[in-house]
Amino acid sequence: MIKLENLSKVYRTDEIESTALNQVSFEIKKGEFVSVMGPSGCGKSTLLNVLGMLDKPESGSYKFQGTEVSGLNEKGRSAVRKQNIGFIFQNFNLIDELTVFENIELPLIYNKISASERKERVNKLIEKIGISHRSSHFPQQLSGGQQQRVAVARALITNPPLILADEPTGNLDSSHGNEVMELLCNLNEAGTTIVMVTHSSHDASYSQRIINLLDGQIVSEKRSNLSQAAV
Ligand code: ADP
Ligand code: ADP
Repeated sequence: MIKLENLSKVYRTDEIESTALNQVSFEIKKGEFVSVMGPSGCGKSTLLNVLGMLDKPESGSYKFQGTEVSGLNEKGRSAVRKQNIGFIFQNFNLIDELTVFENIELPLIYNKISASERKERVNKLIEKIGISHRSSHFPQQLSGGQQQRVAVARALITNPPLILADEPTGNLDSSHGNEVMELLCNLNEAGTTIVMVTHSSHDASYSQRIINLLDGQIVSEKRSNLSQAAV
């Protein structure tokens, strides 16, 4: 699904150059659940932004489902993103002025799905993640755990084959964090590919592979403990 070869990203501000990713190469197959770990500033968010086609690499190759991403223009990247990628952020990134229902509905509007189908799909998913009684509430009226479940639902509503998650439990206590991790695991078991940035080795243990970054380079890669134990 994802193939990076010698991918580099350099940020330039005035005279200062900062290499966020330095010749990174790896492959992620369909159905994998991969964690990306490493100290602050090592390039994790940049990597996720490049994978999500929000940020352009400096050099190297990024193939998504066989298509060279650098060959696409902004419109092409946006179309691939809308159809294939769901994003989950540490700060939930819900729109405060929209209800739970409307937040989850938004990606379907972007994808030009009819109102009746939107209603059916959103209600079904809201029920599945256990927040139907909160459908007409606003994000600020929910607990953190509930807000992140709404954010996960918004990422899932279009059934994207790939989920990119940046510290999805970073603002949650451990019990709500575990709920979100279990939601992600269920998704992965149903076939969704997940790439997750995390500081938490507990969260990483839910994934099958852990990629460790340091100064923009992959320094090690291993199978996670849980999946080893499960074998
Ligand atoms: P992480 O997510 O692992 O904390 P980042 O990907 O955010 O790391 O950052 C990697 C490096 O790139 C850091 O040295 C950071 O300072 C730099 N960087 C990130 N974003 C920008 C930016 N917009 N402009 C300049 N430098 C940046
Ligand atoms: P949950 O396990 O359902 O996330 P919490 O223990 O976090 O529950 O919260 C208990 C109840 O209080 C929940 O129904 C939640 O919606 C509500 N709640 C939590 N935080 C807030 C808040 N800031 N404003 C309004 N209601 C809240």
